[in-house]
Amino acid sequence: MFPQLCQELAATGKRVFLYGGQPAVVEATAKRLKQEYPGLQVAGYLDGYTTASAEAVCYQINRSSADIVFVALGAPKQELWINDNAYRLNVGVAIGVGGLFDFYSGSVSRAPEWVRALSLEWVWRLAMQPKAKAGRYLIGNPLFLFRILSSKVQSRVQATMLEVC
Ligand code: UDP
Repeated sequence: MFPQLCQELAATGKRVFLYGGQPAVVEATAKRLKQEYPGLQVAGYLDGYTTASAEAVCYQINRSSADIVFVALGAPKQELWINDNAYRLNVGVAIGVGGLFDFYSGSVSRAPEWVRALSLEWVWRLAMQPKAKAGRYLIGNPLFLFRILSSKVQSRVQATMLEVC
């Protein structure tokens, strides 16, 4: 999605703000974006390890007049941050992008094309960062699927019981 979105934003002269990642990573991301999409206006950027308060971060984002903010704090931190601060932000949209800046800046390598074609990039990421990813990929994701399935089963059982009644 990212390349198409950037092309569209460049064509329409929109302003983007990058929030998250290590300082050198977010800086390199901003630099590459400016080179790759000359029409795209990088309104500002800020690393995800700043000691500034959320209020101060939002103030900086609003002051940049960004139309869109990419939040790269990892899941679920970024979703929680967006949810908690949406009311402070004067942007059109805030999108959680996880480790995107790490990939885009070249500081972390993506899986080879054939691995991605097989939808197995998660295995690659697990192999690259086992400590950081094992909890989510091996426990969190199966648990998530299990909860969805059990809630579906529960709804069916309830529907059947209602029919019987
Ligand atoms: N990160 C951050 N601040 C934090 C924690 C994480 O800026 O307090 C950044 C981290 O540097 C990395 C990204 O968030 O760039 C998380 O990447 P990860 O691959 O873990 O995210 P995922 O795509 O798996 O959600």
